[in-house]
Amino acid sequence: MKKKGDSIMVILSSPSGAGKTTISKKLQQKYQNFKISVSHTTRTPRPNEVDGIDYFFISHDEFKKLIKKNEFYEYAEIFGNYYGTSKKSVLDLVKKKNDILFDIDWQGTKQLSKFKELNLLKIFILPPSKEELKKRLIQRNQDKPHVVAERLDAYERDSAHKTDYDFVVINDNLEDCFREVEKIVISKKE
Ligand code: ADP
Ligand code: 5GP
Repeated sequence: MKKKGDSIMVILSSPSGAGKTTISKKLQQKYQNFKISVSHTTRTPRPNEVDGIDYFFISHDEFKKLIKKNEFYEYAEIFGNYYGTSKKSVLDLVKKKNDILFDIDWQGTKQLSKFKELNLLKIFILPPSKEELKKRLIQRNQDKPHVVAERLDAYERDSAHKTDYDFVVINDNLEDCFREVEKIVISKKE
């Protein structure tokens, strides 16, 4: 049975560029027991990304092999690439009694929600406006213009899934948003 004090699994989802990776990293820095689940992806690494830390970057063929071997808790095709959470990376963290942060999309959240034994806390982050989202995607300066356009285009479609989550938090001011996410997470732990 789930009880207060147990390890928790926090899912942070959002339209791309709203700030979930920034918030996940801040949580992990402040709370040593929180570890970010490192996903596998077929996407090309961004200039600042490191293999094994931001993602495990693998080929389409390797990803398909892992699917066949049933190695994923969940996976999805997003913006033309595969992304997935491997059972091994999660179970390694569970063994160490870590709290886990998942930076995954709504499709992965739906799949993980089927595992009723998981102590999930689902938080959806929204930007204050589409204009601001566009600014952040451009400012991040990590994706080509057509990739930015594709992500901005998905804003409404992605946002519609916020109703699948326990909490929705607006990321306008980063520190305010972080405090709100922190409060939600701490109250689940206590
Ligand atoms: P996501 O993981 O949701 O795609 P990121 O965490 O990569 O988004 O954030 C996208 C960009 O927006 C980054 O350059 C980040 O530094 C910036 N950012 C995040 N939160 C805020 C905020 N509250 N105000 C302004 N910029 C932000
Ligand atoms: P990005 O390319 O910006 O790193 O991520 C694109 C989208 O993929 C984001 O919404 C992110 O949350 C999602 N994502 C990252 N890893 C996974 C995963 O393992 N599974 C699923 N379902 N989504 C993921």
